[in-house]
Amino acid sequence: MSQNLLLEFIKRFPADRSRPFLVEYDGSEVSFDKLLDLTGRYASVLASHGVVKGDRVAVQVDKSSDVIALYLACLQLGAIHLPLNTAYTGDEIAYFLGDAAPRVFVCIPNRLETSQDLARKNNVAAVLTLGTKGDGTLNDQAASADASTDIADVTEDDIAAILYTSGTTGRSKGAMLSHGNLTSNALTLHKAWGFQPGDVLLHALPLFHTHGLFVAVNIMLLNGGKIILLSKFDADDVIERLPKSTVLMGVPTFYTRLLAHPGFTRDVTSNMRLFVSGSAPLLAETHDQFFERTGHKILERYGMTETCMNTSNPLDGERRPGAVGPALPGIEARVCDKDGNILPHGEIGVLEVRGPNVFKGYWQMPEKTASEFRKDGFFITGDLATLGADGYVTIVGRDKDLIISGGFNVYPKEVEEVIGEYDEVGEVAVFGLPHPDFGEAVAAVIVPANANGFDEQELINRTQDKLAKFKVPKRIWKIDELPRNTMGKVQKAQLRTQYADTFKGNAK
Ligand code: AMP
Repeated sequence: MSQNLLLEFIKRFPADRSRPFLVEYDGSEVSFDKLLDLTGRYASVLASHGVVKGDRVAVQVDKSSDVIALYLACLQLGAIHLPLNTAYTGDEIAYFLGDAAPRVFVCIPNRLETSQDLARKNNVAAVLTLGTKGDGTLNDQAASADASTDIADVTEDDIAAILYTSGTTGRSKGAMLSHGNLTSNALTLHKAWGFQPGDVLLHALPLFHTHGLFVAVNIMLLNGGKIILLSKFDADDVIERLPKSTVLMGVPTFYTRLLAHPGFTRDVTSNMRLFVSGSAPLLAETHDQFFERTGHKILERYGMTETCMNTSNPLDGERRPGAVGPALPGIEARVCDKDGNILPHGEIGVLEVRGPNVFKGYWQMPEKTASEFRKDGFFITGDLATLGADGYVTIVGRDKDLIISGGFNVYPKEVEEVIGEYDEVGEVAVFGLPHPDFGEAVAAVIVPANANGFDEQELINRTQDKLAKFKVPKRIWKIDELPRNTMGKVQKAQLRTQYADTFKGNAK
């Protein structure tokens, strides 16, 4: 029997398909019927351009409900959906087209010319456009196409999507996710987070990333709707729609921005059942403030492009601030040293995971893939973590963000938690800089909480009461905004480059 994820969704669509799957920003509704019809038309258009099972379809477009139909059309054909961050430049797109060799590239209407040029140079057979208002050549061609109803026969190991990792170091890698990976993770999360008919998900995440697409959209497709779709996160828009929603999935910056908004009150959250956070660490401080303001405990979960979601705080049970909860059902997590030896509970090491959620490898990088798996099938995540005897995992940072100062390990998160507690601190990021004496020195940037700013030396002195000497930042700079990518992850590599020369020749 075909293991196509689309079949899994359709099986769970409501009996009455005239019901809304999604509500657009302008309030118009997209029913399940309409979604399926558009999916079938897109599938026909893609097929008319030669797309067959296994072909890549690269997509770099602004967010709209049509993108969801395009994703489903790829599933329908057994083709590989390849969403690309809208922030990528021409040079970056050229790399992805060259690497993934898609059959079709779907871009935004006003980038047609440059995209055609890139496509020609990279042997992409066709370029289609897709706007956010039902415009673009994909929609033009879909209008006169028959809606295909054939759904490709696939196995659970066939690839459904390739998502390029953010690639802060080295080449960006294409993570291959199979129908089985996506199906198992969506079913697991749907159950773990207690989705029921009647849930309404407020969607403010991008659709080119695992969080917005494979967590948020897949769950709601399994749940029989319904999504309220926002083109992006805007605190005013979110606050206006919270009373009509029951679930919000966000990155930590959503929550800090909501907390900074005077209109974000307990009242506006009274219809809400669940707030989920992930993709970057949520400070315990934010978790606590959110609880004080709203009475809701944010549920933090942990995952990555390569693995979908691995761990989650429980729906019922302790949602522990600063921790990402136990491994999800069917998934194993362990913490090991760099040679793969399992460490005792509570010790910091690299988190490794195994389960039906873990990807099939990096596109055309068999050696890189092999080097990131253990012989027994565990994937080495590159995240530093502890695993408690109670199964709860705490992420302490990326392996590559670890600071080694005077031979001692400093985990940025620990220092961030200390500095983040001071009233004058809005946001903080801690990172290592080359230092002639210590190898690396701890440094920090903060976004002050108010216009009064802060006194650097006084703040450094205060951290000395809480942190061992080698963890105390040698410098703390003020910054207007932390450099974050679209998923809210602080770009520490950028900070390291910016301040790289600070301690040069400063041997003391
Ligand atoms: P991405 O592949 O873009 O989803 O990024 C995955 C990475 O985001 C993980 O390897 C972690 O470093 C980080 N991440 C995701 N969720 C969390 C979380 N809840 N807490 C801390 N880091 C997280």
